[in-house]
Amino acid sequence: MLQVTDLHVTVEDKEILKGLTLTINAGEVHAIMGPNGAGKSTLSAVIAGKDGYEVTQGSITFEGKDVLEMEIEERAQAGLLLGFQYPVEIPGVKNIYLLKSALNAQRKARGLEDMPAPEFMKLVKEKLGFMKMDASFLQRAVNEGFSGGEKKRNEILQMLVLQPKLAMLDEIDSGLDIDAMKVVADGVNSLRAEERAILLVTHYQRLLDYIVPDKVHVLVDGRIVKTGDAELAKQLEANGYEGIEESAA
Ligand code: ADP
Ligand code: MG
Ligand code: MG
Repeated sequence: MLQVTDLHVTVEDKEILKGLTLTINAGEVHAIMGPNGAGKSTLSAVIAGKDGYEVTQGSITFEGKDVLEMEIEERAQAGLLLGFQYPVEIPGVKNIYLLKSALNAQRKARGLEDMPAPEFMKLVKEKLGFMKMDASFLQRAVNEGFSGGEKKRNEILQMLVLQPKLAMLDEIDSGLDIDAMKVVADGVNSLRAEERAILLVTHYQRLLDYIVPDKVHVLVDGRIVKTGDAELAKQLEANGYEGIEESAA
């Protein structure tokens, strides 16, 4: 589904990703772990098409298409979606409106009509219930006055409504208490499907007790230095990143 090959990325003239290669197949959940500043957020941001990153070498393809040739909206409509590490507030834009316009833009890109309003409301209410969110969230401006935990739930709600092919979640566990983390993890687990892949960026292993990844990659200084299964995350929790960095060097 996603193929990243020898990716080199520069931010403000500083090379952050230094030859990163990663393959993600449909149906898989991958976790990217690594120390602060390793380039984890940069990787998901570049895949999603955020501004400010210069790809100087390498390639990214999604279902065989050259991602680097696609605008950020085209990527989202193709089913490649990044939730926000610190979700932005959009004053005056109601949550329900954002969800509806994003869903219908995606449908349009696939040659489908807008989802009829009753069907849309049914879908959203079902997902709200799943995320243990109150219906009043829909009428509030996007993320305005939301607590950290509410923003994270809202991010997963977006994913549940939009059903991306590749869902990328950056530090979805940061700042969550254990109950909120379980709700968020249940939401992510409900996205698991044969036709979908999930890329989780996380600094801590804790989240991976609830969302068990198929593959764990350790990203250090702009490169993936080790790949393993869920067991690797547990080793990192016990031993930290230092041993990994030494073995990579
Ligand atoms: P991680 O998510 O692994 O903690 P990031 O991808 O956020 O790491 O950052 C990797 C490196 O790139 C860091 O050294 C960071 O300071 C730098 N960096 C990221 N974004 C920017 C930016 N917009 N401007 C300058 N430096 C940046
Ligand atoms: Mg190289
Ligand atoms: Mg980060």
